[in-house]
Amino acid sequence: MSKIYCIIGNGVAGDSAAATIRERDPDSDIIICTEEGKPLYNRILLKEFAKGKLNQNSMEIRDEDWYQDREIELRLSTQVIGVDAEDKIIKLHSKEEQRYDQLLIATGGTPREMDVPNSGAKGIHHFWTMKDTIEIRNHAEKANSGIVIGAGLLGIDLAAICGAQGVNAKYIMRGDRWWRGALSREGSKIIHRSLERTNVSPVFDKDIECFEEENGEVSAVVTTEGERYEADFVGVAVGLDYNTEILQDTVVECKDGIVVDEHMFTGVEGIYAAGDITRYHDVIVGEEMQNGSWGSAKKQGMVAGENMVNGSNCKKFEWVPSYSVTHFEYPMISFGHPTRGDKYMEKTYSENEWRRLAFKRGRLIGGVLIGDVSSQSRYKKIIMDRLENVNQSAFILDKKIELEKISNDQV
Ligand SMILES: Cc1cc2nc3c(=O)[nH]c(=O)nc-3n(C[C@H](O)[C@H](O)[C@H](O)COP(=O)(O)OP(=O)(O)OC[C@H]3O[C@@H](n4cnc5c(N)ncnc54)[C@H](O)[C@@H]3O)c2cc1C
Repeated sequence: MSKIYCIIGNGVAGDSAAATIRERDPDSDIIICTEEGKPLYNRILLKEFAKGKLNQNSMEIRDEDWYQDREIELRLSTQVIGVDAEDKIIKLHSKEEQRYDQLLIATGGTPREMDVPNSGAKGIHHFWTMKDTIEIRNHAEKANSGIVIGAGLLGIDLAAICGAQGVNAKYIMRGDRWWRGALSREGSKIIHRSLERTNVSPVFDKDIECFEEENGEVSAVVTTEGERYEADFVGVAVGLDYNTEILQDTVVECKDGIVVDEHMFTGVEGIYAAGDITRYHDVIVGEEMQNGSWGSAKKQGMVAGENMVNGSNCKKFEWVPSYSVTHFEYPMISFGHPTRGDKYMEKTYSENEWRRLAFKRGRLIGGVLIGDVSSQSRYKKIIMDRLENVNQSAFILDKKIELEKISNDQV
């Protein structure tokens, strides 16, 4: 009898798992349930659409025919509300039930709303789906003043959208700099200067007390120190809540995500997870890690798909993630786990060129490159090869690093 594979979520993790399963088990039944009304599209490009630089078609990756041609049943606008892990059933919002042999949870996260008064007012945007993006673009095109809250990778997208759309914006941050887990003051200054050039002014060391609204629409943001910033456009990016509630009646371990091993297996018979939602065992660093990036989610989906077909420990997830920021006149990339070091080293090369590396127990585990990103693949190789004591190498911050010199340094 053919196996039934169910996948919850049609982001890149769910989609790549489905494609892998179809290749490895041609006669199986594959069912994908997704809350969204569209098949997989490119989330990475949403910011460019919101800036007004791309049209909506540029974001499409799959159409429904792609799934039909591969006999993958794609159920759009279908919310899953629960999982019965003992009887191997998923429960849908429509009250239907679907049996599975192997189940993948690839439900990602939902942007967190701030827990302050009026956080649900119209004009306050969160950024994740195509629907959010259309609203952001339409609003930003006509807004005059904006506030962006959240000093991370999605916050800077919202700030860049304001800049590109001519919205005069303040970018409010809790700490003294943008992405303070990964960048030092020195590195973040480069980013702050670029934001200023697009009329987005960073404002540091502020917490939000509340939003003000008029007739249901946001009109101002007030800080805990009582400062009031008027704004008709507000973008909030203060983290994700992971979509784990469907597992609440199971014994699958959830702690700010779903805990899986290096095979994307939850430890509960037939249940796997992949993508942003996982807290996975990173075999390179040797610790539990979490990562929100497109390439990583895609790879995890492929690994999960392979193991769902061939057994739970057939393939390992062994991967150095990366994430590019493309808003400025220079490139920027983060790789590995740039916020998880026990030691950091950095160097400034020129006005817009800077590097910071994160080490753990003497091994490189991640970093951020601004300006010149050409060493990225060599740093990734050092991570993959698990080179020891590279924090002591005299060459590790050379502008053009040479792997041979760094390897020789180890002996
Ligand atoms: C604006 C934006 C910009 C980004 N830029 C970059 C970038 O430059 N580089 C980079 O590497 N990464 C970037 N990312 C992150 C990257 O897009 C994510 O890491 C990746 O898309 C995660 O894929 P996923 O499949 O794990 O989850 P998602 O893409 O979030 O997919 C999860 C899907 O599950 C569905 N779902 C959730 N719960 C249920 C349920 N109960 N029933 C049915 N369906 C459900 C959701 O609706 C969603 O469609 C960006 C993300 C955003 C939002």
